[in-house]
Amino acid sequence: MPSRALLAGLCAAFAATTAAAPLQPDAAKNCRSCAEWNQPQKPFLLYGKSWYVGTHGLSSVLIDSGDGLVLLDGALPESAPLIAANIAQLGFRLEQIKYIAVSHAHYDHVGGVAALARASGATVVASARNAQALTAGLPPKDDPQVDFGAEANAFPKVENVKVLADKETLRVGHLALTAHYTPGHTPGATSWSWPDCDGEDCRDLVYADSLNAVSDDVYRFGGADGSGGIAASFRASIARVAALPCDVLIPVHPGFADFDAKLAQRAKGAKPDPFIDAGACKRYADAALHKLDERLNEERAAAK
Ligand SMILES: [Zn+2]
Repeated sequence: MPSRALLAGLCAAFAATTAAAPLQPDAAKNCRSCAEWNQPQKPFLLYGKSWYVGTHGLSSVLIDSGDGLVLLDGALPESAPLIAANIAQLGFRLEQIKYIAVSHAHYDHVGGVAALARASGATVVASARNAQALTAGLPPKDDPQVDFGAEANAFPKVENVKVLADKETLRVGHLALTAHYTPGHTPGATSWSWPDCDGEDCRDLVYADSLNAVSDDVYRFGGADGSGGIAASFRASIARVAALPCDVLIPVHPGFADFDAKLAQRAKGAKPDPFIDAGACKRYADAALHKLDERLNEERAAAK
């Protein structure tokens, strides 16, 4: 009969061989808003088998497919350890992550992806334009924020990226995660939707990418010559998000859907659950359209 000490030793050896590659974060970005965005956030259930595992200011979502995990976004390089700790707090291991899907190739949403992919062995999935940016570690030349410069815009490169076409669905276990190309804030911007169930009660979840018409000082959403630029395709992206079946909206910045207020209401026992809000995607899109129209007016006024 093996001694208790021997058994403990064998268990420790087994744990050592199956542990994830330790997370090795890339250098912190330390941007002006980074410390504020990177405040810790306790993980919480969004709906069904989908959890919020991001920081207080930058979203990341973990979905349990029943046959492996899918992670959406990795926030800042300095967020990766916080996301990993949140995943562990929920009782999951990094090596259970099969795929990491991304919203848009700016350092505050994909900065932590490279480290999380290395530590988990997950495959990164992205739109065609996001895939190019991820492997380059930089937004493309037609990104509205490109004039901030390579140093400001850079993020850790991701080695292998699987491209998902527009409207293509990634199937893992019981999860069907669909990519919706929603260019505007960036050329590769992607929103994601999936149904998730709490018992028999199934809802549509939407991870909505930024629809924010913000840029550097040079870029013009209406085109450098005022001829239209990407305004029409940006409007189409906004209309797409507005039209998605949507019971639970998770924007890439949780503040865009007042997550703090929803958590406070949930803590007070509010029913129905405050995160179930069928009008949220439409309101999110309407606010973005208003901002885009304002921005285009400003560009026209400045051109006169
Ligand atoms: Zn962005």
